[in-house]
Amino acid sequence: MENEAEQGMTEPIKTDVLIIGAGPCGLFAVFELGLLDMKTHLIDILDKIGGQCAELYPEKPIYDIPGVPYVTAQGLVDALMTQIKPFGANFHLQEMVEKIEKIGDPLFRVTTDRGKVFEVKVVVIAAGGGSFQPKRPPIPGIEQYEGTSVFYAVRQMEAFRDKRILIVGGGDSALDWTLNLAPLASHLTLLHRRSEFRAAPDSVNKMMALVGEGKIDFVLGQVSALEGEGGRIAKAIVKRNDGSNFEIACDAILPFFGLTMKLGPVADWGIEMKDGEYVLVDTATFESSVPGIFAIGDINWYPGKLKLILSGFHEAALMAQKAHRYVYPDKRLVFQYTTSSSSLQKKLGVA
Ligand SMILES: Cc1cc2nc3c(=O)[nH]c(=O)nc-3n(C[C@H](O)[C@H](O)[C@H](O)COP(=O)(O)OP(=O)(O)OC[C@H]3O[C@@H](n4cnc5c(N)ncnc54)[C@H](O)[C@@H]3O)c2cc1C
Repeated sequence: MENEAEQGMTEPIKTDVLIIGAGPCGLFAVFELGLLDMKTHLIDILDKIGGQCAELYPEKPIYDIPGVPYVTAQGLVDALMTQIKPFGANFHLQEMVEKIEKIGDPLFRVTTDRGKVFEVKVVVIAAGGGSFQPKRPPIPGIEQYEGTSVFYAVRQMEAFRDKRILIVGGGDSALDWTLNLAPLASHLTLLHRRSEFRAAPDSVNKMMALVGEGKIDFVLGQVSALEGEGGRIAKAIVKRNDGSNFEIACDAILPFFGLTMKLGPVADWGIEMKDGEYVLVDTATFESSVPGIFAIGDINWYPGKLKLILSGFHEAALMAQKAHRYVYPDKRLVFQYTTSSSSLQKKLGVA
């Protein structure tokens, strides 16, 4: 279910509904659309499924999911994945939707930053607070090295083979990439401003073992300046906590300072917004000002809106009713309960 569709970059992927965002509301939308026979693809910028729940607070307990007195955020995502399994949704991770064009009535062409193109009858924006963007460390002039020597994500490990790598940070991403890139790098240094980490203890122990074996360096301090030419880095100037400086020669720097949420391209899609931040929707259908484009979850606004997961679940159910009219204009929709409808139970694989 989590594999991307094996389709070419130029050939459009055709499906009924494209969901932008694989957070809890996007996931539940798969269920509601699936019950009504609509096929779905989901796109998310992150490398994992689950939106804020998985990225920001996976181990925190949630107490206000109806009928579930206690569940961790990651537990909720896992449960949603189990619930939507019968519908075989396709996931496209680490891709950002950049452009939506109306090419029919309704038919949309949607393009991602990696050049993937979709042709869909309905678009559901479940983009939460927008796109997660890496936090840029406060190093003067860092912009001129971004994309050539400074990277906030690792898309292809091979690109770092035989390089002198400097990883900066003390969270899970910094530690995970230290462990993964250590065997490839010609030299790897992990730099953190203090000796305590916000990462899984097992990763910290493994990193320390590599330091003990002389395979990598771990140093305390903060990058204060970069030196290089034409976008190619030569060295980082590091300030120790006692104020003294030293240099680390390197070809690539990977800063992992966490993520912030920015609205991103949603604002450019020609949809009526509230305060330039939220998609305005009709509360009967959760459709936006553009027929065929819906918005559910944290990204939408209507009078009385609460940014709660349960609100997004309700919105997904109503959205699916209207989406059905676009996907099956000639079919009448009959309201049914999962408890008593054998046809719904067949779709769920329980009958
Ligand atoms: C610490 C914390 C605790 C919380 N506790 C609770 C709680 O107890 N109960 C509760 O109900 N709610 C809680 N919330 C809020 C809850 O997490 C959100 O309401 C919920 O995650 C919204 O779900 P969503 O699917 O709308 O969006 P999100 O979870 O934000 O997911 C949106 C996804 O869309 C992706 N995306 C955005 N733009 C694009 C694009 N252009 N292309 C591709 N992908 C894109 C993002 O990468 C993201 O993964 C909490 C939030 C936080 C931060």
